Amino acid sequence: MVIINDVTLRDGEQTAGVAFNAEEKIAIACALSASGVRELEVGIPILGPEEREIIRAIAGLGLSSKLMVWGRMRQEDLLASLGCGADIVNLSIPVSDIQIEHKLCRDRNWVLRAITRHVREAREYGMEVSVGGEDASRADPDFLFRVMETAQEAGARRFRFADTLGLLDPFHTFDRIRRLREASDLEIEMHAHDDLGLAAANTLAAVLAGASHANTTVNGLGERAGNAPLEEVVMGLRHLYGMETGIDARRFPEISALVSEASGRPIPANKSIVGDSVFSHEAGIHVDGLLKNLSNYQNFDPAEVGREHRLVLGKHSGSKSVMEAYSRLGITLTEFEAKSILQRIRDHAVLHKKTPASQDLERFYLEASSCMMVS
Ligand code: MN
Repeated sequence: MVIINDVTLRDGEQTAGVAFNAEEKIAIACALSASGVRELEVGIPILGPEEREIIRAIAGLGLSSKLMVWGRMRQEDLLASLGCGADIVNLSIPVSDIQIEHKLCRDRNWVLRAITRHVREAREYGMEVSVGGEDASRADPDFLFRVMETAQEAGARRFRFADTLGLLDPFHTFDRIRRLREASDLEIEMHAHDDLGLAAANTLAAVLAGASHANTTVNGLGERAGNAPLEEVVMGLRHLYGMETGIDARRFPEISALVSEASGRPIPANKSIVGDSVFSHEAGIHVDGLLKNLSNYQNFDPAEVGREHRLVLGKHSGSKSVMEAYSRLGITLTEFEAKSILQRIRDHAVLHKKTPASQDLERFYLEASSCMMVS
């Protein structure tokens, strides 16, 4: 079973302009844990005493999820992580030549020595360690083998493969992860970014290639275009590959709303799985098909993710939808009445750019009936 390590409370909060308060972080951690997410990355201890206090508060809840904290591959970051109550620390270090040379201003050997020193020290303090390979997608694959070998020798249990800039596609991701999987016994965790809209696809590819862990964020929150959305990864794994994560997807609407509210980031109406209108149907041919048999136009049952189909009336509606909508109001229309009301609905949709409310429908019905009596 693939293990979801949700990073909403770390990379998600790292989104420009997003900051959670203690109550929000605790509420999000509780909701994710209650839904069955096995691991949570909950913060960055080196940020300061307030952050450490929140992490300790989350650890004090006794959640069933394993807790991870994030730090750079530095002694001060490691020391700040101790005593926060986390089970595992992710120590991150650039592994691409471009970042080793132009960000760290060091060389590859220095990186390997830093991994050995800090991972060993963390192990001596009793922490479990994941080595975060920043910019791993641009790193020399042969050097990544050496990074993983060094990490394992020093006592790390996991390597996080970060596509920090979101520049991979699923085919290259699969290839890169498969080669690492064949070369190492470490746990491999995929960390994808959505700059090209491929974070969820790349995460699925990594899992197929043998990644044991996958990073996600609720609603795809995260740096720039964000990370792989929890809801998309969970449902993609289930429906495309029959792989379960132990997560109750029916809780997604509640978790998604909580994170949207706390982050101040509204959920786009067409956001897959959690967007307001992703189970709404207007087009006449689709509604007609759905009413005949749900499987005509249903990928998966929206009840699986705590949602339901919604029929909405608009410019593309057909008379079957109109009759169905009125029957729900207790009004039985003839085909002729439905057609005449349909024109009113189309005019309304174009003018107001929204679906008519039930009061509008009742008004259209009364107007249509009186017209027909006069004519
Ligand atoms: Mn990231």
